[in-house]
Amino acid sequence: MVLVLLGAPGAGKGTQAPILAERLGIPVLASGNLLRAAVAERTALGREADRFMSRGQLVPDATIVRVFLDRLEATDAVDGAILDGFPRTKIQAEALDDALAETDRRVDLAGYIEVPLEELVVRMASRRICTANGHVYNLVSNPPRRFGVCDIDGSDLVQRADDHEATVRARMVEQVPALLEVVEHYRDHGVLRSVDGRLPIDAVTDQLLATVQDMRPV
Ligand code: AMP
Repeated sequence: MVLVLLGAPGAGKGTQAPILAERLGIPVLASGNLLRAAVAERTALGREADRFMSRGQLVPDATIVRVFLDRLEATDAVDGAILDGFPRTKIQAEALDDALAETDRRVDLAGYIEVPLEELVVRMASRRICTANGHVYNLVSNPPRRFGVCDIDGSDLVQRADDHEATVRARMVEQVPALLEVVEHYRDHGVLRSVDGRLPIDAVTDQLLATVQDMRPV
């Protein structure tokens, strides 16, 4: 099963993706984590991506499509994968369709985690991620057991550079219209399912798993 997680920045894709991966036994590919690793390593990709990410803008389609689809191909995704953060534009969605079609696959489900925009801006002020693997916490709604330390791998928790309020607003302005086009793309393909992202984390997971069951061929 190829499962795409859709949602505005802060909707909970990065929280849900690893939970679903464990429950479904398939890997996660998270474009933001991939880019942040490249930025930290100061590779050519990282230097290019950082110019856009630090302003809340999308990395150009040509760059992210090449990098992400290469990674998808290289990952052990025979039983499927969960895509977090890709595709983010219609061009990326079409490129993904074409790449999957080459091996007779397709996006089986696009799970759209819907949250009102104003709630997202508030959420992101208290979001923290771990430095080792990008595990996601929220100081208010999903705090770590020990302050400042990741429950899963023990690394330090930090605020993402692009989670400061001015950048958050820029990300919403830039990314939400593109997201809505991607939502329409999957609606047209009959694989879009929406879940209520204002619910507690467990309830959102349950809704997403229920949509997975619905979409699985019997
Ligand atoms: P995320 O961790 O998914 O919120 O991504 C962080 C930032 O990485 C985004 O705000 C974009 O600047 C960039 N990014 C991640 N995925 C993509 C994508 N599919 N297309 C373009 N830019 C992306």
